[in-house]
Amino acid sequence: MNTTAEQLRVLDALLPEWLEDSRKEAAFGEVASYIPELSKAPHSALGIHILDKNGSSASAGDCSLSFTLQSISKVFTLILALMDNGEEEVFRRVGMEPTGDNFNSMLKLELVRPGIPFNPLINAGAITVTSLIRGDSPAEKSKRILQFFRSLAGGVELQVNEDVYRSELETGNLNRSIAYLLVENGVLGGSVEDVLSVYFRHCSIECTCRDLARMALVLASDGIDPFSGGRLIPRRYVQVAKTFMITCGMYNASGEFAIKAGLPAKSGVSGGILTLVPGSLGIGVIGPALNAKGNSSAGVHLLERLSRKMDWSLF
Ligand code: GLN
Repeated sequence: MNTTAEQLRVLDALLPEWLEDSRKEAAFGEVASYIPELSKAPHSALGIHILDKNGSSASAGDCSLSFTLQSISKVFTLILALMDNGEEEVFRRVGMEPTGDNFNSMLKLELVRPGIPFNPLINAGAITVTSLIRGDSPAEKSKRILQFFRSLAGGVELQVNEDVYRSELETGNLNRSIAYLLVENGVLGGSVEDVLSVYFRHCSIECTCRDLARMALVLASDGIDPFSGGRLIPRRYVQVAKTFMITCGMYNASGEFAIKAGLPAKSGVSGGILTLVPGSLGIGVIGPALNAKGNSSAGVHLLERLSRKMDWSLF
């Protein structure tokens, strides 16, 4: 199979059956409830959208479902922080290594010196990175983030889901603890509540699988919007982001996903997964029921199968 258009034609026919097969995996997962509002998501939903640079697409399942980006936003706030500050400044405050711990763990912040977050895709790292986004106020930082995300989604008017935002603001005490530890370690400056409000807001930006696929396609195109031809992200920062997605994007199941699917990916506790085939495809998946590692059970199953069948692994 040569062109992505041919691949997508084949996939359009095959996807519905594969998707229904993967949907069964939702039975082994649970919808996240530590952010109470997230628990309202439909347990067995599963949807996928795949988009190529010419605008051809294949999709199946519950693609019209809206969900919040959650940790998927971390990839793009990292990129914006790099664009705002440069690599040197960002990597003075956050490391480049996987932790092997849960995404919301603060264990290593105390155990390993200097107490900087291991990487930008765990909560400690993402909160730190969020604090580096330029803007005179939390509102301005949030606005810049939203505008950047909208440009990556092809101008779609993405919005913050205020219910999810408030739900996390009211219950996010673990993230508060992490942030205070970061202040204590001299990594984070300013007001913890200000940083967290910006962080919770970008986690609460609502999207569909199609929006994820569109954002992923910019990464697959090395930072260029394939439809307008304009550069949205410097190529180097896309390289950095994709590498983190391989090593840390699926939490402490990143090694397994790299072996089984071989694609850069980022998941969120809403059950979303953004992934891509470099050079050709952007892919968005939603499946709210999560496995023990916090990734969409059905979504991971579907992506691993797809990658094997289509020979998408980079390795
Ligand atoms: N907003 C969520 C949190 O900070 C994001 C976590 C995630 O998607 N893994 O807990």
